Amino acid sequence: MIIILLGPPGAGKGTQAIRIMESHGLVQLSTGDMLRAAVAAETEVGKKAKEFMAAGKLVTDEIVVGIIADRIEEDDCKGGFLLDGFPRTVAQAEALGQLLDDKGLKVDAVVEMKVNDESLVDRITGRYTCADCNKGYHDTNLKPQKAGVCDGCGSTNFTRRADDNRETVTSRLATYHAQTTPLLPFYEAQGVLRTIDGMADIDDVTVQINDVLNAL
Ligand code: ADP
Ligand code: AMP
Repeated sequence: MIIILLGPPGAGKGTQAIRIMESHGLVQLSTGDMLRAAVAAETEVGKKAKEFMAAGKLVTDEIVVGIIADRIEEDDCKGGFLLDGFPRTVAQAEALGQLLDDKGLKVDAVVEMKVNDESLVDRITGRYTCADCNKGYHDTNLKPQKAGVCDGCGSTNFTRRADDNRETVTSRLATYHAQTTPLLPFYEAQGVLRTIDGMADIDDVTVQINDVLNAL
């Protein structure tokens, strides 16, 4: 199964991807995570991507398509994968279509997670993750069971993304509306678009996504 989670920054894609990965045995492919790893490792890709990411702009299609093209060749993708944060432009969607076509594969569903912009700003500015296992939290919406201790691994080290600040969020949302929303008619025309209410609470969003996947 090949699933795309489509939604603005902060919509809950990463939060839900981890759950779907566990329930449906799909590998999560997050271009944001891959690019952040490249920036941290100061690779050539990371050096090229860094400024775009800090400004809340998209990294070039060439870079992200290259990353995904390599990644889907790996063995763990054979059982299907869940794309989180890719594609983000029509050119990327077309390139993905070509990559899958060459392998006799196709996108099974594109799940659009609809969330209003005011909530997104709150979700992004309140987001933090465990520095050791990358489990995601929120200042008010999703706290660890014991304050200051990660539920997943017991670590007390947490981190916030450099681009999760109010100024960059505005730019990221504008980028989403201008460059990524054209994917909605693109996938609707292919008959694979499913829209869910991303404003619902986290467990309810999981139920909605499971309903979509179980109907495939
Ligand atoms: P994305 O991967 O789409 O950028 P995340 O999954 O990282 O978004 O979610 C952004 C923040 O919002 C996180 O701190 C997360 O805990 C919180 N969050 C995710 N889904 C919901 C939800 N349905 N309701 C409230 N907060 C949520
Ligand atoms: P994310 O973690 O999905 O919020 O992505 C963080 C940042 O990485 C984005 O603001 C972009 O700068 C970059 N990025 C992630 N995925 C893509 C993509 N598919 N195309 C272009 N840039 C991307």
